[in-house]
Amino acid sequence: MTTIADTPQTETPVDPERLAVGRRAYEFDRAHVFHSWQAQGPFTPMTIVDAAGPYIWDGEGRKLLDMSSQLVNTNIGHQHPAVVAAIQEQAGKLCTIAPQHVNDARSEAARLIAERTPGDLDHVFFTNGGADANEHAIRMARLHTGRTKVLSAYRSYHGGTQLAVNVTGDPRRFANDYSAEGIVHFMPAYQYRSYFNSTTEAEETQRALQHLEDMITLEGPGNIAALIMETVPGTAGIYAPPAGYLEGVRELTAKYGIVFIADEVMAGFGRTGRWFAVDRWNVTPDLITFAKGVNSGYVPLGGVAISGEIFETFRDRVYPGGLTYSGHPLATAAAVATINAMETEGMVDNAERLGAEIFGPALREMAQRHPSIGDVRGMGCFWAVELVKNRETKEPLAAYGGSSPEMNEVIAALKGEGVLPFANFNRIHVVPPLNTPDEDVRFGLAALDRALDVADRYVTE
Ligand code: PLP
Repeated sequence: MTTIADTPQTETPVDPERLAVGRRAYEFDRAHVFHSWQAQGPFTPMTIVDAAGPYIWDGEGRKLLDMSSQLVNTNIGHQHPAVVAAIQEQAGKLCTIAPQHVNDARSEAARLIAERTPGDLDHVFFTNGGADANEHAIRMARLHTGRTKVLSAYRSYHGGTQLAVNVTGDPRRFANDYSAEGIVHFMPAYQYRSYFNSTTEAEETQRALQHLEDMITLEGPGNIAALIMETVPGTAGIYAPPAGYLEGVRELTAKYGIVFIADEVMAGFGRTGRWFAVDRWNVTPDLITFAKGVNSGYVPLGGVAISGEIFETFRDRVYPGGLTYSGHPLATAAAVATINAMETEGMVDNAERLGAEIFGPALREMAQRHPSIGDVRGMGCFWAVELVKNRETKEPLAAYGGSSPEMNEVIAALKGEGVLPFANFNRIHVVPPLNTPDEDVRFGLAALDRALDVADRYVTE
């Protein structure tokens, strides 16, 4: 009998011509491409020669399950035929149009997004990605309130552009830590490594909210334009807000007239098993920023969904901001096709089911057997496994902000098992496309289970 874990190994080999193209691409890449977040010299990137659904094929023709969804953006998997066709059709019709003109793809994408955002977030400003969406959301908040300060959480990521990287609360900010005028970071609610010495969820919520209100008081509520936070922080560790926290943040921001910006660049568009993660807590922010899953990253697109109140600020007042490619037809046509495919194929509900019925139970069961697992948390297709050397001390398998030979070994073991993981510091994130078939999900989990034996060897209990 073939076991589920064997399924992806039954392979048709990649066309040798494709592999030759990949080898040439690698050569030109190393000669001419300057990569994100890397020391360029020692970097040895993986070549990808093909991709389909939840799988990619590397430069050696090996098939790997993409449990990273690339940078957690291919929510519908690779090369979804309906979206590829929509991009092709739009390219044949009209490739580009300036943002001041009306375009049917942009209008329909805005309508579909507004239909799914909570409350009266009924207008959409399109950007090229997540960082500029956050930049514009903050600009809107500052103009709307006439205030300048921005509160944001440590252990967060909001993008690589100057303002976005300064509101970011992870080590990628350190080298860019200037032009941060008016940005103040607060401690997030993060139960596993509580900054408030909490021992229960209720305690964490109460203490984190008290800390936030103290920060607001000490910074001067009348100076604070916006509070930006990821509804479920993603790269920073997929740590969902404890019960009552998000509702509390909404109350505090409303109380002090602060614009609440929910960054759903990673958590939005079905990743958590809801269209938007805020829906899990029935919270309506003033602005939601999105990108990635809106069209699975097939063509760059991001945006800001805007509440009625903030829209009114700009009804008769010029909004001083824009982009040549705002609402680009190829990107918005891809968004329309993506949202429709997600809807008709029930992908958001499927993400919820996968989380509740497969990821959650399987990962929690693994946590009982693998002493290297310090914490397992998540929902939908959005899970983090936090690896430690010691469960008592919670000493991480790689220090905050870095990697380690031990983590690299775990990652290499996963790749050896046929899985491309998303890893950050001491965490493996399990974040495949929302429509990954159950048998492939089980294959990925079985591979992770075996790779964790490597991590267990470094446990010092
Ligand atoms: N916000 C969050 C939560 C993200 O995860 C990211 C990217 O990973 C961004 C913003 C930045 O998006 P982009 O890389 O499209 O600028």
